[in-house]
Amino acid sequence: MGKRAYNFNAGPAALPLEVLERAQANFVDFRGTGMSIMEMSHRGKVYEEVHNEAESRLLSLLGNPKGYKVLFLQGGASTQFAMIPMNFLTEGKVASYVHTGSWADKAIKEAKLIGDTHIAASSEADNFMSIPDLKDIQIPENAAYLHITSNETIGGVQYQQYPDTGNVPLIADMSSDILSRPFDVNQFGLIYAGAQKNLGPSGVTVIIAREELIAESPKHIPTMLRYSTHANNNSLYNTPPSFSVYMVNEVLKWIEEQGALEGIEQKNREKAQLIYDTIDGSGGFYTGPAQVGSRSFMNVTFRLASEELEKQFIKESELEGFVGLKGHRSVGGLRASIYNAVPYESCKALADFMSHFQKTHG
Ligand code: PMP
Repeated sequence: MGKRAYNFNAGPAALPLEVLERAQANFVDFRGTGMSIMEMSHRGKVYEEVHNEAESRLLSLLGNPKGYKVLFLQGGASTQFAMIPMNFLTEGKVASYVHTGSWADKAIKEAKLIGDTHIAASSEADNFMSIPDLKDIQIPENAAYLHITSNETIGGVQYQQYPDTGNVPLIADMSSDILSRPFDVNQFGLIYAGAQKNLGPSGVTVIIAREELIAESPKHIPTMLRYSTHANNNSLYNTPPSFSVYMVNEVLKWIEEQGALEGIEQKNREKAQLIYDTIDGSGGFYTGPAQVGSRSFMNVTFRLASEELEKQFIKESELEGFVGLKGHRSVGGLRASIYNAVPYESCKALADFMSHFQKTHG
């Protein structure tokens, strides 16, 4: 096998090598069926076992919260931006959002197409470089829900704690930090995440929702866009993205092997610390734009003194086998996405490279 890249892609992103190898070993003949998982009916016993296993494994990793259901949908997290208001923003209600950056903005724009929206708090004044203070979040009485983006993948800011929304369902886009640390699912009405960062390959979006919230959907919205359609059919109303669901199940097994969410969190914190320490110890050669108290331990954003120097950094890093360190095109700068599957060794290699680059260019 060729050398694996130091992969810091923002998504689709690195998958655990063990998972890729296991999938490879089972690729052509899955569980003795003489075919791959991609070639069999989604109504057959073998696929259904995998599907149900993935669902129960996910709930088990989250502590088996009572009254919650897992859905495997398609259309990416971006489709959830629209499905959420379509399903929950009913007459006389308002959709309330915390605005923390690019992804929150996309969610808000979709909700505006459906009905009345409200900004419960915003970090715009801070150029979206922090998460608003939880006590400053104002939820209207007629809120259908409060929507947050638990980790802003582009800005590199992340909630350290979640707001208490009382009777108003809390909805979170956890696309870029789901299962990176333990959290209390009971605080949430609905959580969603595209799989392609922390859960598996692209092609499946995972929803974890309170059953009573998704049991019934408005009848005027298209069948495929109703949560109830999928909730009442165990996500098998139509053909599911079967290979992606299989891969999610394998990634979940791997998370269990890492010491579940507690084990994963510890590893993630050590990885992020390495890079933040390098930034903070560089005497200003590297700067971290995100406010320290809101720093993400999934997407570490940093800058150099000039765009030329940043270009040079990318160029030299690529020669050393680093991939994906360029910041998002909308903000520029540099970004290391260090999701669950990015090994400690890659982060150590990056920290060493950053120190070396400072020595040669500082
Ligand atoms: N939300 C967040 C926080 C994201 O990072 C992304 C993808 N980068 C999305 C939503 C959009 O996800 P998708 O491409 O699956 O629609």
